[in-house]
Amino acid sequence: VIGAGHAGCEAALAAARMGCRTLVCVINADTIGAMSCNPAIGGLAKGHLVKEIDALGGEMAKNIDATGIQFRRLNTSKGPAVRSSRAQADRLLYRLRMKHLLENQPGLAIRQAVVDEIVVENGKVTGIRTSLDELLTVKAVVVATGTFLHGLIHIGLKNFPAGRMGDAPSVKLAQWFADTGFAMGRMKTGTVPRLDGNSINYDKLEAQYSDDPPALFSFSSAGQQPPLVQRPCYITYTNEQTHEIIRRSIHQSPMYAGIIEGVGARYCPSIEDKVMRFPEKNRHQIFLEPEGLETIEVYPNGIPTSLPLATQIAMVHSIPGLEKTRIIRPGYAIEYDYVDPRELKPSLETKKVAGLFLAGQINGTSGYEEAAGQGLMAAINAVQSVRGEAPVILDRSQAYLGVLVDDLVTLGTKEPYRLFTSRAEYRLLLREDNADLRLREIGYRIGLVDGTTWAGFTEKLACIEQALAYLHEVRIKPSDAVNASLRDRGFAPLSQAMTLAAFLRRPEITLIDVQGMLQQQGSEGQAFPVQALQYRDEIELQIKYEGYIKRQEEQIERFKKLEGMRLPPDFQYQGLPGLSHEVVEKLTKVQPRSLGQASRISGVTPAALSVLQVHLKRRGIS
Ligand code: FAD
Repeated sequence: VIGAGHAGCEAALAAARMGCRTLVCVINADTIGAMSCNPAIGGLAKGHLVKEIDALGGEMAKNIDATGIQFRRLNTSKGPAVRSSRAQADRLLYRLRMKHLLENQPGLAIRQAVVDEIVVENGKVTGIRTSLDELLTVKAVVVATGTFLHGLIHIGLKNFPAGRMGDAPSVKLAQWFADTGFAMGRMKTGTVPRLDGNSINYDKLEAQYSDDPPALFSFSSAGQQPPLVQRPCYITYTNEQTHEIIRRSIHQSPMYAGIIEGVGARYCPSIEDKVMRFPEKNRHQIFLEPEGLETIEVYPNGIPTSLPLATQIAMVHSIPGLEKTRIIRPGYAIEYDYVDPRELKPSLETKKVAGLFLAGQINGTSGYEEAAGQGLMAAINAVQSVRGEAPVILDRSQAYLGVLVDDLVTLGTKEPYRLFTSRAEYRLLLREDNADLRLREIGYRIGLVDGTTWAGFTEKLACIEQALAYLHEVRIKPSDAVNASLRDRGFAPLSQAMTLAAFLRRPEITLIDVQGMLQQQGSEGQAFPVQALQYRDEIELQIKYEGYIKRQEEQIERFKKLEGMRLPPDFQYQGLPGLSHEVVEKLTKVQPRSLGQASRISGVTPAALSVLQVHLKRRGIS
């Protein structure tokens, strides 16, 4: 594994845990598991990824549970599909715990080394060469080099080569990819200045606390409390004065001066971008997030900037609560090379070189969670390839990880890609709460989920199934006692007997109410399986959204039919009558593995799909 950021750490742990002798190379061993930007894990759609990684046997959820200093559930007033978890990390502890895990993982070795070249023989990876000319023989490689390939940092009109602040860039490896003929592009991302918390005037600011009780990420930590003290964030805002300072200095912005060529993410603009693009907004929100328990550094979430340092200082001083605040580290932008992810198969193996897998920001994504998810999947498939077994490919109906990989390898990306819940077609089924129900079995089958965890999961599954059957079977009657109790609580009385499931479908009724009503029914009520109450969110959702879930399951069946119509990897599109030149070119580039994947390539029309289907039938392939 080349790289020990979020993709590399998951990849290295997974490969070793699956039984492969694994080496992870990192430019600076002190930075294993480092968070380059904000000290937080999760968020909208990203929380879903963290839970999926956990369900498959990855580490990210456990690491944030052990080192989180503020846990919050987001979108709790919205539908179940878009509810997400987010936690602030103690940046230092997050990194140290991850490093400790890698150091103590049997079968895994760590080497501080700069990898300059991947050695390929007859189209297959056979080794890696380091900057000290060491040649290491390998059967498969996962490259997870993040923002390091030809990295260039910008602060104002000054720039210098770096992988991120304080780290050297990776130049020779970037050149190797270009020389080997990989399609590449240039992207940029940015980060905020870090502030001295001792110089912030918190008296003026609104505090935002952890949820009470805080909910942890990992399915294995369910019901437990975070081990670390919880810390609040504080909220402040930019104002007209801040915006004026930015406008006056905009000619010194590397973006606006035309120095940066890389494409940034529209959804994550710098503060100068926000001010210039939305002149009608007279303020922008900033969350002042503590970086940890033992540091005074504060992360002002909301003001990433690459303006000159003097402007950053003036800008910070114009913000309420920050009038006298000192900057410890300047904000900056970084440009870097990425590999067009359409160079990859859905297993994350490159099409050009067998045994070479890419994961994380190198594939044009942004974010720790997107990186970690790819690292995990790339390592799983690297191990499968070494074992001579079929790759594990999650589809869009199974997981956000499936959506992420399919989007990347089918559509490519022109700007840093991050997940949103809106990218998933079947999001009612791809919830955070059921990630284990969707993926645990796969994790267990490939050897990433241990026996004890699996046993606990099967018990949970049985308990939920038993409760669902019970709720569909047992009826509640409109007795005086039941109706009096309902009226007391402001609920409409029952006019006729109904199943508990029908009763629970009432929007205001919860599983706890159902249990209460059963007690009211006295001796006639059958015993409710109380142990199921610990899974009440899952059970309530399955009952309350039953109709919608069924509809989505039907859509998935249709989706699976198209996914099941396989296109052979060597399928020759050239010369097929009925396909335009443009469609042939796109199909040849992506090499879709199924008719379903072909249907998602932009420009591949329904008519072109029918042509393909006819050819598949004629050749007896489908
Ligand atoms: P990284 O975490 O970057 O890790 C790369 C690893 O590769 C490092 O361990 C490095 O030592 C190693 N490496 C590189 N080259 C070599 C080599 N040749 N040999 C050996 N080892 C090598 N994400 C967001 O979601 N939102 C943001 O606002 C955001 N802002 C960011 C701002 C900045 C300035 C930076 C740098 C990143 C930002 N990110 C942001 C992105 C986030 O940090 C990354 O998406 C995430 O860290 C990517 O993880 P990764 O594992 O792919 O790579």
